[in-house]
Amino acid sequence: MATPHIANIPVVSAPTEGQAQPGSGVDLANPAEAAERAFDVVHLMRPGTLQLPSLPPLALYIHLPWCLKKCPYCDFNSHEWRGDPAAGMGGLPEQPYLSALRADLEATLPLIWGRTVHSIFLGGGTPSLFSPAAIDQLLSDVRARVKLDADAEITLEANPGTFERDRFRAYRAAGVTRLSVGVQSFNDAHLTALGRVHNRAQALAAVEEAAQSFDTFNLDLMYALPGQTLAECEQDVRTALALAPPHLSVYHLTIEPNTLFAKYPPVVPPDDEAYAMLDTITEHTTAAGLARYEISAYARAGHGCWHNQNYWQFGDYVGLGAGAHSKLSFAHRVVRQVRARDPALYMQRALSGHAVVQHTEVARSELPFEFMLNALRLQGGVPLALLSERTGLPLGAFEKALTEAERLGLLGRDLQRIWPTERGFDFLSDLQALFLP
Ligand code: SF4
Repeated sequence: MATPHIANIPVVSAPTEGQAQPGSGVDLANPAEAAERAFDVVHLMRPGTLQLPSLPPLALYIHLPWCLKKCPYCDFNSHEWRGDPAAGMGGLPEQPYLSALRADLEATLPLIWGRTVHSIFLGGGTPSLFSPAAIDQLLSDVRARVKLDADAEITLEANPGTFERDRFRAYRAAGVTRLSVGVQSFNDAHLTALGRVHNRAQALAAVEEAAQSFDTFNLDLMYALPGQTLAECEQDVRTALALAPPHLSVYHLTIEPNTLFAKYPPVVPPDDEAYAMLDTITEHTTAAGLARYEISAYARAGHGCWHNQNYWQFGDYVGLGAGAHSKLSFAHRVVRQVRARDPALYMQRALSGHAVVQHTEVARSELPFEFMLNALRLQGGVPLALLSERTGLPLGAFEKALTEAERLGLLGRDLQRIWPTERGFDFLSDLQALFLP
């Protein structure tokens, strides 16, 4: 859906195929070597300098890479589906892609043997381009191969432009427990400026259906849009809150490199107006009972997104699908993997058990920064014990930066937790940068 959300983009931006990540312990930029080592459990279990006392909770991200149209601001791994227009939303290579996902999961099983999967996130691209029958089959394939928590959160991203009443209900019947609706705005002029395929009416209908069919759902909104005024932004958040979403994700439009907006930049509101917009959004959202628990996420009690919180607490995740990222822990190392980005290449490589094209062991020196890049996004911070549990490093490895962050008034700490102060939240990049190697 690609609001600049987090679904699967680890904060540490993964290199594209073949580029090396700087300074990693062991870095296999050569796809062939990466593919060899990516599933070599014996190699991954060999002794090392890290001591992880236990393995973090595990989540599963599945990337469905096609969209009806490429949005001009989108830098995500999404590919315009130029299939047979007569087949409308049909005609997607659903079965070949599902076969590739199945093969990729089977190749990955030795790395996660015996571990319980606590959440599944179907992200994109536009997962709601896939038929409910295909989503049903995909979830059955996963259930048949991994131990899925009985209360697992299963999120599907839905584009209002693909909205059909029965379709959303059928996703619910297939086992999806949470819908994430990519609204972005309720203003038709802004939706057009963003190049979105849906309009206000479709957005309203999609959210109303999500509210009727799902126990919990998320609504994505963007702000600082081309030509947007503070009053229009306020109107958008009022409209969103009137639909009583239990979860709201709010993103500042950013002009990403290699996008159409980078080539033809639209006129967007200046920074001070964008800050005023975020303040207005936070004010209205808080007044409506949705607490800001993460830099861009607001939720009613009990409706926080487990999948994303697992990212922010430096939990583990397997990413399947074109261009998906994984982060996996072993007793003595933390590794990151990237799958082939191009859907056709991904399908080809996955069917031969070689979907991974980049395999990196995170260097000891980089772990504090990687951990804090995630953890400090949480307004309430994290338990102090998590720093060592999730990185395998002694607390001493963080001490210098923690002390400096406290001295600068950016971080709070007690015997149980660390958390970004209000000032630290406003200057989050500066706070996180203190943990750079
Ligand atoms: S719907 Fe637009 S923003 Fe979302 S993934 Fe597709 S192209 Fe990107």
